[in-house]
Amino acid sequence: PQNPPADEKFKKSMERIAHKILVLSGKGGVGKSTVAVNLAVALALEGKRVGLLDVDFHGPSIPKLLGLEDSKPEVVEEGMLPVAMASGLKVMSLGFLLNRKDDAVIWRGPMKYGAIKQLLTDVLWGDLDYLVIDFPPGTGDEPLSVAQLLPDADGAVVVTTPQDVSTIDVSKSVTFCRNLKIPVLGVVENMSGLICPHCSKLIELFKQGGGEEMAKRMEVPFLGRIPIDPQIVQSSDDGQPFVFFHQDTEAASAFRRIVQPL
Ligand code: ADP
Repeated sequence: PQNPPADEKFKKSMERIAHKILVLSGKGGVGKSTVAVNLAVALALEGKRVGLLDVDFHGPSIPKLLGLEDSKPEVVEEGMLPVAMASGLKVMSLGFLLNRKDDAVIWRGPMKYGAIKQLLTDVLWGDLDYLVIDFPPGTGDEPLSVAQLLPDADGAVVVTTPQDVSTIDVSKSVTFCRNLKIPVLGVVENMSGLICPHCSKLIELFKQGGGEEMAKRMEVPFLGRIPIDPQIVQSSDDGQPFVFFHQDTEAASAFRRIVQPL
């Protein structure tokens, strides 16, 4: 089942979304979901109409990151309404459709493909300027089948951390996009240095610049770096989008700069 859903409903729904942006990472734990959430909220803060879709089967973390763990999409005759947030963001996650927070998702490939296809077809986004899609990590079958459902995406934002073990995976993500003819919008280097709260000097915890070097080498744009900020962890744990609640921090400015060219 590797063909894009050609049915009219899907096509019509997708036509009402001006920009579709995939957020990818070569591996888990680099902050992909955190970046997806904060880019989406940064766009919403600019007055854009934004949807955020979480198709990460391994751990749909968007409901937790946005404090929406008890939310369920409303089901109407034509489909499902995404969960609307105060910031204007519309959210849909596989996590809303699983019964329990700690449900291990052990569906086989074709079932996953079917579920994502249905999710993409049945969600009533309405008119959107941007749909930000949080992908499963890596470059295996799962991200591949999701990407094939979205052949007209604008492109991908690839998230990495600065150290070599992570940037090597960036080149895999870039190759993945090239094989699928998805433009790479650029690389984001997350967890790029930590400002010491005592002396305000930059501590290069995981080095710095690795993402930028790799972007240069792979000839894709570099979108910017997000520093490590303990408030990001706290915001995630509290289910409050960081860029909304900490607008005057360096990390929030970094997120706002990154969405400018998108
Ligand atoms: P992934 O989606 O790549 O698996 P997450 O977005 O779930 O990663 O992030 C993993 C953890 O790292 C979370 O606890 C998150 O709060 C934290 N985190 C992500 N980016 C930053 C950052 N720039 N500063 C501090 N903590 C971060």
